Amino acid sequence: MFTKILIANRGEIACRVIKTARAMGVTTVAVYSDADANARFVKLADEAYRLGPAPAAESYLKADLILDIARSSGAQAVHPGYGFLSENEDFAAACEAAGIAFIGPPASAIAAMGSKSAAKALMERANVPLVPGYHGDDQDEQLLKNQADAIGYPVLIKASAGGGGKGMRIVERGDDFLAALASCQREARASFGDDKVLVEKYLTRPRHVEIQVFADSLGGCVYLFERDCSVQRRHQKVLEEAPAPHLPAETRQAMGEAAVAAARAVGYVGAGTVEFIMDVDSGKFYFMEMNTRLQVEHPVTEMITGQDLVAWQLKVASGQPLPLQQHELAIHGHSIEARIYAEDPDKGFLPATGTLLHLVPPVENAHVRVDTGVLQGDTISPFYDPMIAKLIVWGETREAALQQLDAALAAYQVVGVTTNIRFLRRIAANPAFANGDVDTGLIARYHDSLLPTPAAPDSEQLALLALGEVLASASSDNHAFGALQGWRLNGTQQRRIGFAHGEQRCEVVLQHDGQGFVLAIGDDTFHASASLHGSRLAANLGGKQLQATLVRHGLQRVLFADGERIAVDYLDPYAYEEAGVHGETHLKAPMPGRVVALLAESGQTVAKGEPLLILEAMKMEHTIAAPADGKVLAFYFAAGEQVNDGDELVDFEAD
Ligand code: ADP
Repeated sequence: MFTKILIANRGEIACRVIKTARAMGVTTVAVYSDADANARFVKLADEAYRLGPAPAAESYLKADLILDIARSSGAQAVHPGYGFLSENEDFAAACEAAGIAFIGPPASAIAAMGSKSAAKALMERANVPLVPGYHGDDQDEQLLKNQADAIGYPVLIKASAGGGGKGMRIVERGDDFLAALASCQREARASFGDDKVLVEKYLTRPRHVEIQVFADSLGGCVYLFERDCSVQRRHQKVLEEAPAPHLPAETRQAMGEAAVAAARAVGYVGAGTVEFIMDVDSGKFYFMEMNTRLQVEHPVTEMITGQDLVAWQLKVASGQPLPLQQHELAIHGHSIEARIYAEDPDKGFLPATGTLLHLVPPVENAHVRVDTGVLQGDTISPFYDPMIAKLIVWGETREAALQQLDAALAAYQVVGVTTNIRFLRRIAANPAFANGDVDTGLIARYHDSLLPTPAAPDSEQLALLALGEVLASASSDNHAFGALQGWRLNGTQQRRIGFAHGEQRCEVVLQHDGQGFVLAIGDDTFHASASLHGSRLAANLGGKQLQATLVRHGLQRVLFADGERIAVDYLDPYAYEEAGVHGETHLKAPMPGRVVALLAESGQTVAKGEPLLILEAMKMEHTIAAPADGKVLAFYFAAGEQVNDGDELVDFEAD
């Protein structure tokens, strides 16, 4: 076994590899870009070396530099993770030439599977079933069109060098073929520098089922069952699970054996995945491609087999035999993985960037696993994949696993960056998914119910938000709840607290009643008491006890309560009526308090937003600012004077 390995990757997969290496007593060397200088994986590794600036081409793809660091740090092997250099045959060959083990297959196997067309030709010879189609070298457009006509529409044109769902075109009718071909070739040239394509039958209701294979350098090769990755959005995996729902045992075995045949055909060593596309109606499966690396979704296989695939990789790469033989492997229970991304499902899944102001993953245990590369305070940058974490759950049955998934997603708290968590929960709750009726069209078919308009906060949520506001302002001088107990208002005084949810404004009228509060929200009234410690809010609303988390950042408020996340903006009462101020206007006190200071003089010309007066109310200082460019006509109170709710404070004339 190696004593030291270098991990040529970043983020969650680097953390994942370090975890196993450490457990095996193997020292780890990390490499990082400037964007990752303080990343979790850099801190976890035993040693870490800088590669260069943030863009991958200047850091994680610098094969020569990575090899130099491997040599000088004394690493005996390189783990490439997934993405970056993991399927780069030149890098694998350079490692071999430098006498450093590449923790992956031989360069020749990567090369053999690198082209979808060549891989299909090879699989044909190994008697692995293929989707009816054409994958020849002759790329004459009329010939391709004739092939498509013979296959029968719809057909799929795929870039032979493609990956990540790029360079694919569905063609519904012969008339559209040539235009689609040209556009596919253009994309393929731009993305992969190679415009070779293949044409195959487009299955209208396919499932994506893939087999995890493992081979050692002594001739051993096994399959560790399947993963179903049918839940996709634009050909990108969203949820993955193992085993595949409703897969007959004979099909599983046939697919496993076909996958082993595929691996053997290319002299495979290490972890690999053979992807099949399966026709839902006939149950027939066809080879799609082989991924010559550890996959993002490998944890679901680990959960159902009880094996550590990274440990297997290290053993096999150091020349040891496979830890288990085929008959020793069995499926236990069911596992599902959800990819948690920084992206905005309501804005076409636009990748989101920003700082993870608040990040609390669910508690890990035998049922819940979180593979992540980030911690609270870290930034999701535009340079890399915007994945925040992989949430993996396990249950005795699929139903139990689904329940774990929903609970774990509900417990996942992220503030600062928009995520797909709510969308993932909707999929988990979708009846077709719950029944295991999966195919790659599921998300598109249920699009509207998976992406509903975000609901406005309900009365209970508004009550919690308002209580949080009052308690946070009362404790802003660090007296926590104590400060509140010294704070009294007589029963007739009230405070209006406003929140904006998108275009909508919500208001809570809050009164202190000696014991606690009375809250009026629309037609609802709550008698409430509450306490706030950090972001933990405990409240009693009319006898119902609630525990919530309230994160406040600037004017943004994010409440996690009852498994729901609701995000609103606090409406600064003094900024409230800002919009459209014309002519003479009176700036009023929206709550009782005391004037602390006057910051302008009568007759003074001021710019919009300039502070005019400071009011202390409910233990908070508020600045009253000019609602527009204009002139202060008069102040009605002097510093030190008490004012009542609604009193006119400043007479102001907008320009
Ligand atoms: P990539 O390498 O870009 O991931 P794949 O060949 O693995 O491309 O295909 C990605 C996805 O595209 C599959 O998971 C499946 O959803 C869809 N797909 C691929 N081939 C077909 C086909 N012949 N018919 C229908 N869908 C397909």
